[in-house]
Parts: sequence; C-alpha cells; structure tokens
Amino acid sequence: MKFDVLIVGAGGAGLYSALSAVQENPDLKIAVLSKVYPTRSHTGAAQGGINAALANVDPTDNEEAHTFDTIKGSDYLADQQAVRFMCYEAPRIIREMEHMGVPFSRLNNGKIAQRPFGGASKDRTCYSADKMGHVMLHTLYEQAIRYGVNFLNEWFMLNIVHNGEQVIGVTALNIATGEVKLIRAKAVILATGGHSRIYWGYTSNALGCTGDGTAAVLRAGLPVKDMEFLQFHPTGLRKSAILVTEGARGEGGYLLNNRGERFMAKYAPSKMELAPRDLVSRSIMTEIREGRGFKDEEGREYVHLDLTHLGAEKIKERLPQIRELTIDFEGVDPIKEPIPIKPTAHYAMGGIDTNLRCETPLKGLYAAGEAQCVSVHGANRLGGNSLLDIVVFGKVAGKEAVRFAETNQFASGGEGKVADDEKFIQTLFDRKGTETLGDLRNELGEIMFRHFGVFKNGAEMEEGYRKLKNLIERAHRNLAVEDKSKVFNTDLVSLLEFYNLLEIADVLAYASLQRKESRGSFTRTDYPKRDDENFLYHSVISKREDGSYDYQKGEVDISLYEPAERKY
Ligand SMILES: Cc1cc2nc3c(=O)[nH]c(=O)nc-3n(C[C@H](O)[C@H](O)[C@H](O)COP(=O)(O)OP(=O)(O)OC[C@H]3O[C@@H](n4cnc5c(N)ncnc54)[C@H](O)[C@@H]3O)c2cc1C
Repeated sequence: MKFDVLIVGAGGAGLYSALSAVQENPDLKIAVLSKVYPTRSHTGAAQGGINAALANVDPTDNEEAHTFDTIKGSDYLADQQAVRFMCYEAPRIIREMEHMGVPFSRLNNGKIAQRPFGGASKDRTCYSADKMGHVMLHTLYEQAIRYGVNFLNEWFMLNIVHNGEQVIGVTALNIATGEVKLIRAKAVILATGGHSRIYWGYTSNALGCTGDGTAAVLRAGLPVKDMEFLQFHPTGLRKSAILVTEGARGEGGYLLNNRGERFMAKYAPSKMELAPRDLVSRSIMTEIREGRGFKDEEGREYVHLDLTHLGAEKIKERLPQIRELTIDFEGVDPIKEPIPIKPTAHYAMGGIDTNLRCETPLKGLYAAGEAQCVSVHGANRLGGNSLLDIVVFGKVAGKEAVRFAETNQFASGGEGKVADDEKFIQTLFDRKGTETLGDLRNELGEIMFRHFGVFKNGAEMEEGYRKLKNLIERAHRNLAVEDKSKVFNTDLVSLLEFYNLLEIADVLAYASLQRKESRGSFTRTDYPKRDDENFLYHSVISKREDGSYDYQKGEVDISLYEPAERKY
C-alpha cells in the first residue's frame, strides 16, 4: 500500500491525471483509488459535450473568443490567465482524445461535429450524440488499463494524512472487507468530483457526488474556495431532477410558459434559450413565481421544454438518451409532447483551492476536476467547459505530481490515523439510532433548496443556517449504522458520505452569508446587483481546530478583460 502517485477518483479528472502521470514516467508506481467502479463515476452521466475552438462549424471561432465567453460567463470572477490556458489547450486535448479513440459525432466532411451551447458566441461544443461523458470515461479507462495504471476499486477515502508540511497519504476503507488502511504516497491528487448532492432530491448529480475530497480538505485544515457558487441547471426533469442536456436547446428546443410564450425573449432577447445557465434558471423561476408556470397534482411547479418542432429524426439521432430518460422518468415522449422541466442543482464552481499547477498549500497534495477550484468558472460555469476543465487540469495535476514524486521522499508518520478512523466508525456501529439517514438526507435537500436555492436573501439564509446547524447536531447524535456487517456495508458508506455533505453544506451556507451582492449563479434578492468594489474577490475558507472558519479574500486575476456588465 505504497505508491509514488495516488489519485483519488476515477472520473474524467482522475483518469486523465493517471494517464498523463504514467506517460510522463512509466517507472513510477501509480494508482487510482475509487469508491465506485471507475466507469460508474459521474463523468459518465455528462450528456451535451465538451468545448474547444476547433472552428469546424464556424470558421471564425478561435481560442480567444472561447476565453472571453468563459470570462464573461463567469461574471468576471474566473482567473483570466487560467481561463486562457484552458481554452488554448482545448483543441490539442480534443485531438489527443480523438487519437485515443473517443467516438465523437462527425460532420459530413469527417471533422468533429460542434453544436451551439449556452453563453457561447460560436458553435463550439464537440459531442457524441448526447453521451459525451459516457464515451470519454470508457475510453480513458481503457487507456489507463492499457498503460498499466493500478486500480483500487470500491475503496472509500476517509481522510488526508499529513505532517503539517507534506502529505503522507490517505486513510481508506476497503468497502469489500470493512478494513481501514493507511495508503502512503509521495503525491496525492484529489479528483473526487462535485458536491451538488447537498441539494438531495433536487439535483442532477449521481448519488456519489458528496464532496468527500473537499470535506477531507476542510478537516485537514486546508482552504476551499468560492463555495457559495453552486450552479442550477435550467432543465431538470420535473419529478426526478435528472438532467436534460443544454444540447436540447442547442439543437433548437424552446422554453414555454403556461401561455405558450417563449419567455426567454423578455430576459435575453439575443441569446434566447441559449443564454447562460444562471440567467435561464432565474428566468424559469421568475415565470413560476409570477404564476406563468404549470403545477401538477403533487404541487410540483415547472415549465415546458418543447422539442416537438425538431422532428422525430433529429431527436432520435442527436438526443436519443434524453428521449429515453424522458419516456422512462416522466412518461412523456418528446417527439410528441413538451417535456416538464425545472431548475436542478448541478455543478459546484467552488472547491479545493489550488493554483494553476493544481497545487494545494500542502506539499505533495494536488486537486483536479470538479473538486478543484482553480478558478476557471468563477461565479457561473458555461456548459461544455467542465469536461474540458477536468481533462486539461487532470493532465496538469498528473504531470506536476510526477515531478514532485521524482524529487521527494515518502514522508513518515501517520500510523495512528487508522486507529482514529476505526474508532470513529466503531462509534457509528455502537450508537443507537433514533432517526433515519433517509429522512435526514431529505431534510438536508429541503433546507438547501428552500434557503440556498436559485434566489436567496439574508433572512431566509439565516433561518436556513439555523435549521442546518440543528440538523448537523442531530445527525451526529441520532444516526447509526443499522447494518452491522463489515462486508460491503453500503449503509456505513452512505452515512460517511452524509457527514461529508453536512460539512460542505455548512461551509457553503457560511460563505453565502458573507457575500452581499449578486454575481453569476449567486443571486440575492436583498442585494440584486453585482458589487465589484466590495466583492470582486474569491472567498477562501479554512477550518480552525475549534471548528470556526477562517475567511480570507483571494485576489481575482483580471489581467486580460476589464469587468463589464453582462448582456445577452
Ligand atoms: C448529469 C450531468 C451532465 C453533465 N453534462 C456535462 C456536459 O455535457 N459537459 C460538461 O462539460 N460537463 C457536464 N457535466 C459536468 C461534468 O460532467 C462533471 O463536472 C465532471 O464530469 C466531473 O468529473 P470529475 O472527474 O471531477 O468527477 P466525477 O466524474 O464525479 O468522479 C469522481 C470520482 O471520485 C471518486 N470518489 C469520490 N469520493 C471518493 C472517496 N471518498 N473515496 C474514493 N473515491 C471517491 C468517485 O468514485 C469517482 O470515481 C455534467 C454533470 C452532470 C451531473
């Protein structure tokens, strides 16, 4: 259990890190540890596509336009040199993946096809029907196996082990046996994904998107950044919150209210349905709040996403998965009827604070992917930029970790950490449960959606934070592991994930209360304007040993484009 480079997470970010690391130095011992089998990572659920200025459809597109669109989309909170780096790397990394065998959809001339996407000034999103993440994840996994990367599948990372200066490794639970082990590594990359499951029941994310790496970073006393920024995707299915890709609007879908109006004409006359996600989500919620939405028998409010005018052929070719999901989960065939949709918690712009080299302040510890905040998405991510971010920065993290492992020794110590984690787990087995995990998870989702949703205000957030504190206290007193077996105990894993969610929800709520402005995905009705004078900064938060937060203001790199008002 000793590796030169240990990567936690087997989504797009983790696999790309692993591939770049083995290619950089095949003599090193490199392993990927993942709580789910790699191809079940959330990256596999990504639908719409990945951005790169290939200019295959629109010859006037270029990397600089991609850079500007991303910065504007971020509401000027992204670090501009980081964005430029990502956008200029994009065409190269798409070709790399093409050569690995990622099956992109094609134009008639054989070039990679590109579709329009929200907030983009050109048709820039490369796609594979509506299964981009699925084909990327499978290809990257295949390649990682081919290059001899070691896999520890169905291992759950518990904590980061370090000596105050350098990383020692991580503690992890072998889900199959119930044993806790210390896994030593010279360099560790956290590629543990996002945390939108704090909106339990109101999210497009897989069950496993519980921010485990980000919570472990907080417990290790290291900083997280911009946690108040969490994106609502405009189009989740009414009942399940499962995602309907932006590609559905990219292919020409309309958003309609109960009067049959394409209401986006009021909010974004030039971009219409293809305005950025923050704006479209707010517009949908405004229509609903002002009585122009629909309501079903169970009180769920929604609007319509109409694809019927696209015709059966286009829907079957370009959006086959969307059709399948809509039929299975809503009983609606989008060829014949409009799809009932509502905004769904989708993507964490905030996460583990790193620099452009993916380094955290702890030597040997790196982060990549949705878990990381560089920041390239600022206050609002553009669709198609996350699959790009995870591979571009996954690659950087892999190379940097190799360089570190080549020039440093294993740090010693950390032996007692296994016993600490075992003891904690034992208390969960020994405790008598008086409430159930299922109930408390739903309660968390309700609190977050009602008090920290698309629209927020100070009084509602204060009330929500009080409810959250009460929930956290009950969760640590009243929840127990009901299944007492050691082998494949998913009850235990779910509870550990829930404690991580609570850790994340707490810091997100705290960060939200400090920001008295509206920017990108973060909208306060009591402070409706962006306030560059006082709030053009990254919130950088770490946890002190007594549990209180240290709140710092991180500088935003605006060296390329002067912040301006966003109009679409
Ligand atoms: C439904 C949906 C559709 C999307 N569509 C698009 C799109 O079209 N275009 C786009 O650009 N973006 C899209 N996104 C966003 C994008 O897919 C994600 O941000 C991205 O895939 C995250 O990749 P990742 O590698 O960082 O994390 P993930 O793919 O979430 O992987 C996380 C990994 O970490 C592991 N892990 C987590 N915790 C632990 C632990 N405690 N111990 C061990 N392992 C752990 C997991 O097992 C998993 O392997 C979509 C997201 C969703 C939810």
